[in-house]
Amino acid sequence: MSNPILHIDNLHCEYGARARDRICAINGLSLRLFPGETVALVGEEGSGRTTLARAVLQLLRPAGGRLVCDGQDLLQLGGASRREARKGIQWVPGCARETFDPAWSLRRSLHEPLLASATGSTEPVGDRIAEAADLAALPPDTLDRLPGQLDDATLGHAALARALVPRPRLIVCDEPGVGLDDDAANALSRVLASVIRTRFVACLLLTADFSMAARIADRIGVLYLGHLIEIGPAGGVWEWPLHPYTASLVSALDRVRKLPGPPRPSVTLSGGLPPGGKIPPGCLLFPRCPKAEPERCAKEIPVLRKLGFAQRAACHYAVPPVDPDDPPDDGPSQGPPT
Ligand code: SF4
Repeated sequence: MSNPILHIDNLHCEYGARARDRICAINGLSLRLFPGETVALVGEEGSGRTTLARAVLQLLRPAGGRLVCDGQDLLQLGGASRREARKGIQWVPGCARETFDPAWSLRRSLHEPLLASATGSTEPVGDRIAEAADLAALPPDTLDRLPGQLDDATLGHAALARALVPRPRLIVCDEPGVGLDDDAANALSRVLASVIRTRFVACLLLTADFSMAARIADRIGVLYLGHLIEIGPAGGVWEWPLHPYTASLVSALDRVRKLPGPPRPSVTLSGGLPPGGKIPPGCLLFPRCPKAEPERCAKEIPVLRKLGFAQRAACHYAVPPVDPDDPPDDGPSQGPPT
């Protein structure tokens, strides 16, 4: 297996200056992303998705742990080496329009990351921009237009092109396609997935849209109160969610539209996230979980343990999925009927 492009190891991120006000937004998260792989992290507002994106993009300093990108420990680098390493990580925002200067043509906006990264390459800038536009399925005739002359779908592709111009190793994608109609969002997702696979880039996809994560990610991780509570191959997590929290997210989607895949049990949580992000003792989900066993769940913290093929969940009572194509063993054959 190749080396990971991104290795997040036991990451902790906190907010709040005083110890008694401190909120832990990411708590002991570990994750590896390999070349050509998309890992989606899903969860409600307040799950820690945005904090994680900010930490990977080095917009905030984690309180502990390691962030290694392409073999370099980003938290140990300073000054020029940190800026150099940062060039390999690019961001694709959800609301693309807000991130383009309305007075600049797309060509000028796409040129900007090259100026910022000062690659020293002798390759013509026009070729780099044309290559990125082509990869992102951005029509060449849009490059000399202003953002105000283009629709949101085109600007979504332009934001992807802008991220690709510096030829990054890692793309952090925040709610791609948010606000677009289904066709436009699906088209953008397909282009993104194709770029990741063909260019051997890694993609960390942060989204509240579980169905989109299932469509384009290779693996899905589920965040709750800054903890990774389930992770596995996208098809497994989507079709056989093992953690009650994951099951509740899929159930909520099942209730509003008929989704592909086998029928899944309906799971509804009680209440909302604890106020102020306060972490309860025992299992994080205990106050909301319909499957909780108070004796154990209120006291004992469940660990993220392997339950199925490469699928892990942090629940005392989660059991491995049953493959419907793998019939139960009925014991020794009785021989052909007579
Ligand atoms: S450990 Fe208990 S409270 Fe936590 S998710 Fe599992 S059943 Fe629910």
